[in-house]
Amino acid sequence: MATADVTVMGAGVFGLSVAYACARKGAVVRVIDPHGVASGSSGGLVGALAPHVPENWNDKKAFQFESLIMAEAFWRDVADLSGVDVGYARSGRLQPLADARAVDLARARAQTANALWQGKAQWEVIASGQAGWMPPSPTGLVVHDTLSALIHPRRATRALADAVIALGGEILADGDHQGKVVWATGWPGMQEIGGNGVKGQAALLRFDAAGQPQLFADSLHIIPHGDGTVAIGSTSEREFDDPFSTDAALDDVLERAMLAFPILHGAEVLERWAGVRPRSKSRAPVLGAHPTRAGDYIANGGFKIGFGIAPKVGAVMANLVLDGDDQIPEGFRA
Ligand SMILES: Cc1cc2nc3c(=O)[nH]c(=O)nc-3n(C[C@H](O)[C@H](O)[C@H](O)COP(=O)(O)OP(=O)(O)OC[C@H]3O[C@@H](n4cnc5c(N)ncnc54)[C@H](O)[C@@H]3O)c2cc1C
Repeated sequence: MATADVTVMGAGVFGLSVAYACARKGAVVRVIDPHGVASGSSGGLVGALAPHVPENWNDKKAFQFESLIMAEAFWRDVADLSGVDVGYARSGRLQPLADARAVDLARARAQTANALWQGKAQWEVIASGQAGWMPPSPTGLVVHDTLSALIHPRRATRALADAVIALGGEILADGDHQGKVVWATGWPGMQEIGGNGVKGQAALLRFDAAGQPQLFADSLHIIPHGDGTVAIGSTSEREFDDPFSTDAALDDVLERAMLAFPILHGAEVLERWAGVRPRSKSRAPVLGAHPTRAGDYIANGGFKIGFGIAPKVGAVMANLVLDGDDQIPEGFRA
């Protein structure tokens, strides 16, 4: 193989999205990860590609919005190149509304979303009805948005790796740095620059609701994957001893999910999983010049929305690294 133009350290969704975007622009890329593809927080189960609330608009929300809009074409290309079904579906999201105040706020947000989402997606308050895949709602109303999508995170990360290989790149456990170097090392890399990790636990149930909208209730994501499973997540733990174990905190998440959505009662638990999200001090992604490795670059801080913003992270990093074209929002710099 020719000497690489870009070496990416870390085979999670950030590193692989950067490698894929660089390879798509014609660069020769190599990705190095001693632990293997999807061995970090990208190897999970949940996969909500869902927007923040449409108010107090800022760089992060605009970046996320653009990435969510890019996602369908991005993941279709990755699936085509890799031959792997990444489980992407823009099937929307339902959120029950607890009281009159929540309904007022949701209606105000519908107007803001109309203005900010440029007609590309809608946020509306609708009657919840009783039957089927509809969460109980004390007010009889739910928010329905058409921007939210879902993906199978572990499969999508593996598909990205295969897409990088299909474009002539290589994924290695070890190797030298060739060309420009991008550090996308997740939680360990975040600790190096003063950020931290937030552990999350999630579970996968056998329950077929393929094609239905995802639910967000009691701060939980309930994600009906296309393969006849439903993912439930997640805990959010700043303090933890074992990053990769699951425990009673996940039992509590499952109990809350069943309360919010009784239709799931009795569903078999297929898998319990834990990982650590990379969180920067500002909670924003950290993209651009690496703050401590002179001449290198960083792509980190995906925190709770790493999959949602990965398509745009790849695009802006490839433009910066290959062309010197810097479109990175100010607040994302290290
Ligand atoms: C329970 C849970 C639920 C989540 N739910 C969602 C969700 O619904 N939607 C969403 O968008 N996001 C979600 N996230 C967040 C998302 O998973 C992360 O933001 C994303 O995976 C971060 O990707 P990354 O590539 O930066 O890090 P990682 O996936 O952790 O990848 C970093 C990689 O770097 C490697 N590495 C470390 N050190 C080195 C080194 N020195 N050299 C080379 N390689 C190295 C590691 O082995 C690892 O493979 C969730 C996270 C968790 C834990």
